[in-house]
Order: sequence, then structure tokens, then C-alpha cells
Amino acid sequence: MKRSLRSLVPLGLDGRRALVRVDFNCPLKDGVVTDATRIRASLPTIMYLREKGARVILLSHLGRPKGPDPTQSLAPCATALEAMLGAPVLFIPDPASPDAVTRTKRLPRGGVAVVENTRFHAGEEKNDPELARLFATLGDLYVNDAFGSAHRAHASTEAVAHLLKPAVSGFLMEKELEYLGGALDQPKRPFISVLGGSKVSGKIDLIENLLPRVDAILIGGAMACTFFRAMGLETGKSLVEEDRLEMARALMQQAGEKLVLPRGAVIAEMLEAGVPTRSVPREQIPPGWAMFDIDAAAEQDYAARIARAGTVVWNGPMGVFETPPFDHGTLAVAQAMAAATATGVITIVGGGDSAAAVAQAGLAAKMSHVSTGGGASLEFLEGKVLPGVAALDEV
Ligand code: ADP
Ligand code: MG
Repeated sequence: MKRSLRSLVPLGLDGRRALVRVDFNCPLKDGVVTDATRIRASLPTIMYLREKGARVILLSHLGRPKGPDPTQSLAPCATALEAMLGAPVLFIPDPASPDAVTRTKRLPRGGVAVVENTRFHAGEEKNDPELARLFATLGDLYVNDAFGSAHRAHASTEAVAHLLKPAVSGFLMEKELEYLGGALDQPKRPFISVLGGSKVSGKIDLIENLLPRVDAILIGGAMACTFFRAMGLETGKSLVEEDRLEMARALMQQAGEKLVLPRGAVIAEMLEAGVPTRSVPREQIPPGWAMFDIDAAAEQDYAARIARAGTVVWNGPMGVFETPPFDHGTLAVAQAMAAATATGVITIVGGGDSAAAVAQAGLAAKMSHVSTGGGASLEFLEGKVLPGVAALDEV
């Protein structure tokens, strides 16, 4: 178990400089944040620290700049945060400038500063100890609330955590570890995983780590088609990974009845909004047609299993949800999970596209947990060690 901000004696935070790694990697347009979801998600940690009288210094990356790049500055995020807090937020353009440390020390108690994009420094992605030492001068303790960046060993997520103590998880990170870790280690049963998306190849490690833990894996997305091919079925123009058929067969063998495939498919001759579609049993996909969604029978089957589950972990859409009507199966799973949450089922959504689909349907608040880290939640569920988590203090 990782030590959390909650475990620190609140009085000990008074006047101290908390260096907090947040995920402010927000979309920008013309120097303005267009979606502040990620900033809002870090508010509980920021507000708590302010309340306890800490000086809050925030570190984050934004985009993939190759060195300093004004179009990828964090300044717009500082402005957005200022509006949310209704309090001034200091912007520190260069942590290496001679007055940077003084400015963090002169913040009022409860004051907040945002440091410029960590990726403006070449050392960030190299986990450079020099850069980490520089970051460490800006705080007296370290809080990591950027779960979505924890799968990368970077100076602001890994190396710095060894230099500033205590090094603890923020509230958002804590919630991620609690839900994702809880599902893997002590799931309420039956434990069901719903997996979709385009490729089996990207989800092999996930399936292998989940198989011994789950009671069932419900498959959707184009991934289903690779399994159909492996069973010797005709899949027409569906997206199939021909070079993974052997592997798909081996997985089916290993999984036995745990692996559940959709009974039927919604198919079309091409991928376009409003094209004529047909719904067919999985044995009847004609040549020239492609599966773009699971059919109503599969929707009902999956919804019923979700309703009876104790824990559901979902990763990957059931169809090409970006192109209606092929969003139907994905919406059906989202709705089934939302309804299940209300009856006490623990529902967890991991994966960037699945989280986007849930948000699009307006159902995010009806899940027990929607992970903020696409790649990080995938690696966590694959059983991999996340360097940014590993570097934090143990309880
Ligand atoms: P996540 O980000 O949730 O882990 P993935 O990135 O694995 O999900 O997969 C998402 C993509 O899979 C989406 O862009 C979706 O259009 C695609 N997809 C799902 N079903 C199909 C299908 N039947 N045919 C082609 N693409 C599909
Ligand atoms: Mg994706």
C-alpha cells in the first residue's frame, strides 16, 4: 500500500511547500484551455493542501514539445485554475531561474504556483537526476496526483519522488489505486471484465493478467472478429489480425468458458454514418461486409451478466462508437454499468476511448470509477509496475 496525503498529519503541512505533480495535459486552442476536466480532477488535492496552510507548487507536462515551445505553455492552465480557485495563481516560467525558489517560499500560506511545462526540459523524459534535483528545490514534500503519467519514469514523476520526503499519493492517485488495485486483488465476485477496441494484439497482456482473476471476459469490438476467424468463421471485410489467429486460439483454449464472444454482429458494407446495416448471427457475416458493432443479442447477454456481477472492469469500446449507429453496443454496456452501479456493483472504466464514450453518453458520474489514465490504467491492469507509483513511500 502506498502512503497517501490523507496519512500526513495536517498540522505538519502548515507552511510547508508541497510539490505536487498533477496532470494538466489539457487541450488548448489559441492559448485557452478548451477542456479543463483534468484541472478540475486535481482540485480535491489542491484545495486540501491550501486548507491545511501548505504552499502548493504544481508540476505538469503538456503535449509533446521538443524543448521550450510557447504554444505548449502551461500558462493557460494556470489561468484556468485561477478562475476555479477564485484566487491568484503564480506562474513560474523557469524553475532554473535564480529567483524561482525564493518565489515558492514567498507564496502566502495556502498560495498556489504553477511551474512551466516539465517537458520543456530535455531531462524530463530521461528521468534525469539533475533535473529532479532542480524540481526538488521547489518543495519540502512531494505529492503525486498524476496517475495518467505514472507509467512513465520521468524526472517529475519518478526521480524527484526519491529526493523529497515524504513522497505520497494525492487523492486522485489514491482513488485510482484503490479501485484498480481493489479489482485486481480482492474483487467482489462475480468479477467480470468487458474488453473491446480494435486489436487483440494490444490487449494480450491484459487478457493474460485478467484471466486467472476474473469469472468472465466479455469480448466486443474488432477484437471479437479475430476470435471469430480463429474459430474458422467467415468475417468478411471485418478488421482481423490474421497474424494473431494462432495466439487467439491459444487464448481461447486457455480461457475455456471464461471467454465470452458476442453472439451476433451489426454489419455494413462500409464505415459511414447512416449506411444500411444488418444484424446477423456471428456465423453469418457475408463476404464484403464488416462487423462494426455487437448485436442486440450480445448487448442483452452482456447487460444481464453485468447486472449480476460484483465487480466490472471495462476497457475498450464494443464497436466503432465514433460513427453512429455503431455506438449502440458501447452505449448499451455503458448504460448497463450505470444501472449496475446503482445496485451496488463496483464499476470501473479504464482506457481512453471507453472513458470518452462514457463521458459522451453523460454517464461518467454513474460509474464507481472512471480512470483518468488511459495508458497507465492499461499497464496497471496488465499487472505491470508503474514507476511513478513504485517511487512513492510505502505505508
Ligand atoms: P481504449 O482506448 O478504450 O483502450 P482501444 O484504443 O483499444 O480502446 O480501441 C478503440 C477503437 O477501437 C475505437 O477507435 C473504435 O472505433 C475501434 N473499434 C471498435 N470496434 C471496432 C470494429 N468492430 N471495427 C473496427 N474498429 C473498431
Ligand atoms: Mg485507445
